[in-house]
Amino acid sequence: MQLYNQQTLKVSNSLTGKKEVFKSIKDGYVGMYVCGPTVYSNVHLGNCRTFMSFDMIFRYLKHLGYKVRYVRNITDAGHLENDADEGEDKIAKKAKLEQLEPMEVVQRYTVDFHETLQHFNLLPPSIEPTATGHIIEQIEIIKNILDNGFAYEVNGSVYFDVVKFNESNDYGKLSGRNLEDMVANTRVLTAQDDKRNPQDFALWKKAEPQHIMRWPSPWGDGFPGWHLECTAMSTKYLGETFDIHGGGMDLKFPHHECEIAQAEACNSQSPVNYWLHANMLTLNGKKMSKSTNNNIYPSEIFSGNNDILSKAFTPAVVRFFMMQAHYTSILDLSDEALLASEKGYYKLMEAMKSLSKLETATTTTNFDVDAFKQQCYDAMNDDFNTPILIAKLFDAVKRINLIKEGKETISEADAKKLSATMEVFVSQVLGLKDQATTDNNSETLEGVVNLLINLRNQARANKDFATSDKIRDELIAMGIQLKDGKDGTTFSIN
Ligand SMILES: [Zn+2]
Repeated sequence: MQLYNQQTLKVSNSLTGKKEVFKSIKDGYVGMYVCGPTVYSNVHLGNCRTFMSFDMIFRYLKHLGYKVRYVRNITDAGHLENDADEGEDKIAKKAKLEQLEPMEVVQRYTVDFHETLQHFNLLPPSIEPTATGHIIEQIEIIKNILDNGFAYEVNGSVYFDVVKFNESNDYGKLSGRNLEDMVANTRVLTAQDDKRNPQDFALWKKAEPQHIMRWPSPWGDGFPGWHLECTAMSTKYLGETFDIHGGGMDLKFPHHECEIAQAEACNSQSPVNYWLHANMLTLNGKKMSKSTNNNIYPSEIFSGNNDILSKAFTPAVVRFFMMQAHYTSILDLSDEALLASEKGYYKLMEAMKSLSKLETATTTTNFDVDAFKQQCYDAMNDDFNTPILIAKLFDAVKRINLIKEGKETISEADAKKLSATMEVFVSQVLGLKDQATTDNNSETLEGVVNLLINLRNQARANKDFATSDKIRDELIAMGIQLKDGKDGTTFSIN
């Protein structure tokens, strides 16, 4: 029997505003879509929090035994400035500024995104599709929406008719807005506007002659609207209705609301059963913003090269810090908070290391390991409550330290069970790596390579070139390059 049959997972569904028992559409399988980054600049720490939250959710679902297809897209076209229907494409604008091809901009920041998430120990999604790779699918959806009467074409652009849609469906049900309020808050249309109603949004935009990112379509050369790619890619890989759609809270409106409208207008069914939203990260109590300089990039935290923090922090400490808050709560990053997290993280890692060396006794255990294990599951089953989980893990740390000091005892079987439980929740579910161990490994590697360099030097001195060449070649095969210079031999790892 799989774990998911034994554990009752509840999730906060933004669509209903309730905590609901999670039940996947197909037994044993979960389809999850998360809106990925628009790759026109280095990834923001706030975005990292969102992706880390869904990484933790992905990890826990997998741990429960689900086969999860996790789709997280890359937006490489169609996302205009200010998330609006008018203005420059964010990527094309950056390309002009840096005199690059738009796809060079996309490549550069996609690489940065992957590297940063790797530092934070995020698992790669199952599929990472791009908007430009799915233009045909997006055009097909627009055709369907037009056929169903929920869109109209004007001068080479196609707009979604929100008013028409709202007559038969509920536009605003995710964000809790109603159409009347939206009308009151939107600017009045001018004579130049192509839209029928101010709240309509673009499915396809005609490309003006200067617009470089353009594709042919039945309505002429143009590019897709920003919301459409997620509908196209989620439908293609997860089906017309799938289990979980995630993203940052800021995407709820208009992006996710528009996704629901597009999918319902195209397929006549609700696209997603559970909408999950991760909350934002603030810095020193204020919203992060580049314009006010209240902003920090992951690389600046790892290097310590910034004006905000007193020292550098490892990615694992930052990840631990993020996991200490519930993903739906606002989290504030500050120097004090990171210093406190660092202390906690090392305490936890210390306890993890001592687990394998615990002296076991034949007497009974003072600590109910089974109850502890179930408390960890209960925390995670309650809408992925990582702060409660971490509190439970620290209860265990306390007991581990008491056993170490000889003040309490644990049986061999319980020690094994405790060790396995800690491994599951600390490493697999929270994704916390022992960064200190990684450093030790690199020291060990350095020692081994230097030993081989010395052996090679000896062989060369003895004119045993067969051996010296063998050492060099086999190191190259392992990705380690030796470089002979006048001050001796150095090495680099590729
Ligand atoms: Zn999206």
